[in-house]
Formats: sequence, C-alpha cells, structure tokens
Amino acid sequence: MTRLTVESVDTAIVDLPLRRQHRFSSLTIDHQSYVLVRVRTAEGIEGIGEAVVPGGPWWGGESIEGIKVAIDTYLGPCLIGRNATRVESLRHEMDRLVHGNPFAKASVEMALFDAWGKALGVPVYDLFGGLYRETIPVTWALGADDAKVVIDEIEGKLDAGLHASFKLKMGAQEPAQDVARVLDIARVLAERGSLRVDLNCAWDELTSTRWLPELEAGGIELVEQPVPGWNVDALARLSALLRIPIMADESVWSPQDAFRLARAAGADIFALKIPKSGGLTMVRRVADIAAAAGISCHGGTTIESSIGTAASAQLYGALPEVTEGCELFGPLLLADDLVADGLDYRDGQLHVPRGPGLGITLDEDKVRYYTREHHAG
Ligand code: MN
Repeated sequence: MTRLTVESVDTAIVDLPLRRQHRFSSLTIDHQSYVLVRVRTAEGIEGIGEAVVPGGPWWGGESIEGIKVAIDTYLGPCLIGRNATRVESLRHEMDRLVHGNPFAKASVEMALFDAWGKALGVPVYDLFGGLYRETIPVTWALGADDAKVVIDEIEGKLDAGLHASFKLKMGAQEPAQDVARVLDIARVLAERGSLRVDLNCAWDELTSTRWLPELEAGGIELVEQPVPGWNVDALARLSALLRIPIMADESVWSPQDAFRLARAAGADIFALKIPKSGGLTMVRRVADIAAAAGISCHGGTTIESSIGTAASAQLYGALPEVTEGCELFGPLLLADDLVADGLDYRDGQLHVPRGPGLGITLDEDKVRYYTREHHAG
C-alpha cells in the first residue's frame, strides 16, 4: 500500500496573458486566471492541481478569488495529516464540509491524483483503467467576433494544417445578425473543415426553435447548449426538432444531471469538464451514465493551462466514452505557460502526456513571474 501523509496545501493565484482576446456571449477576456494548488506530503511528494473558471464567475458562479479562500480556509486544512491516496474518502470529507464549489474541489482532487501517480511512478490514466487512446483530436474555439476576424483566423489555422474542426461562440449579438454572421463563416469554410456553435445558454426556447433550423440548413454540424442549463425539457424538444446533434454543457455538471438528461433524451453528446463536475472521479461517473444511455462524450475545456489540460488529457485518454474529440486548446490560446515541458500538439491532435502523475513539471520561474501580487490593504 502507498501512504502519502498530507503536510500542507498551498494556493497561489496566477494570471496568464492570452495570445488574442477571447469573446464569450457575456464578456471578452485578454487573460485567464488560475489557482495553483500544491499538496505536499511527508514523503516528499508534491501534487499539483489547478482551478480555473472561464474568464470569471459568469459561467459557474465560482470566482478565482473565492476558490482560493475556499481552499485556504476549508478544503485544504481538512486534508492535513490524511492519506492523499484515499481520494474517494477525502472527496467525501470535502463534500461534508463545503456544499457545492465543484471548481475548487476539482483542483484539490487533481493535486491528490498527481501526488498519488508520482508516488507510484505511473501516469494518472493508469489510475483510471489505463490508456485507451494515445491522442485526442482538438477542435479550435473561435470567439464571438465579426465574420471577417473569425474567417482570417480560420484561414490561418487551415493554412498551417493545425485544425480542421472549429467551434464558434455565439450569443453576443442579436440572433438574426448572429446567425447571418455564422452562415457567412460556414459558407467560406465550406468543405474544408467542420463548424459547430456554442450559445452558452444565450437563447430561450422560442429563439432556438426559430433559428437553430437555419443553422442546421447552413451546414453547422453541432449545436452546444442553446438554452439555459436548467431547461432540460427545452433541450429535449430541440433534440427532437433537429437532425444535427445537441451537446449539453451547462446542463450537465453532476452524475445526477447526466441521469436526468439521459432520461429526458435532452442531448446527443455530453461535454465533460473536470472543474464543473468537481473532479476526475465525478467526470468518470458522468461518462459511465452516458455510456449506459448511449450518449457520446466530448472532452470539454474551461480554458485550462497546461496543468489542467494535462489532467483532462489523462482522463479523456483513459475513458472509452470520449468518442467526440476534445476542445483542449487552452495552452494554445495562452501566450505563455507554467510548465517546463509543454504539451504535445501535432496535426490537430493532443498527445496524452506519459510521465508520472499529470505528466507535467512546473516552471517555477514562470509561476513566480505570473503569481498575482498581494498588495497591502
Ligand atoms: Mn460550452
């Protein structure tokens, strides 16, 4: 048996610049913030985890600043003296102390898995049944920008042979104008690649019923979360209306959400994300329910850095259910990195890291440089 006694849990907020602005339906970001979690053990093993919310608290309610407080005050102290390899037991302990806060809990659990894998000398995918796929196709995400800006970016990616699958954010403009913009982009892209859209809950059911068929007719291959997360009934009616698949993201956080969606036939594909589900073990349960219901899975992103992306790749690399590729483009959108050994992206694929734990090593100079300054007062 392996024993790893937790001695300390430390956190730091780091702010990384983006290569270009990223526009969501509700805000535009030029940097992405993270809480870096370090779980140190008496045996000299350090586990690394990362908490991230996309741009701010608009997506899931938690904020980077709040996550740091939740870990420093509640989640971290409850692990001290405990065996870091008893992940399920420690997860229950965290749930007993703190309701909700899946983004914060996911980062702590990630650090536990990293420490455990390092102690055993195995990658995290070995703790999830072993490697199922060595590479994962990566969809490139485009912002909710004007058609010209988006087309220039697509042409650049196609010329470089980097990606042939693109996801476009929608919902920042009036529906008629937004749909016209997307159809313009789809016409230019034509046969050279595939285009999917993510509304991030921006439309109601009436707007979706009016406009989604137009997107389908224009060659859009998939629609992600057109309506608010709670509206599972609307998702079910829209799934029945459209021939193209509907992917649920904001509607599927927990295994219970997955079960409810599966029963309602509310989605063809689930977007998996470690942060929203509260960790790797909970994502595996969501994927198990998807498998039992005949629903496919896609490896989603919350714009993780190389740390969270490595964790996602470890898990998606192990889960047979992730048949619909991934959007783990975070490190490609960031202008700099926190790890010494950058992730391996080639030919539109992310190669699953093969080293022990998450398979990454921190660049401590970079971490220091990007750590948010603590100003007095
Ligand atoms: Mn989404």
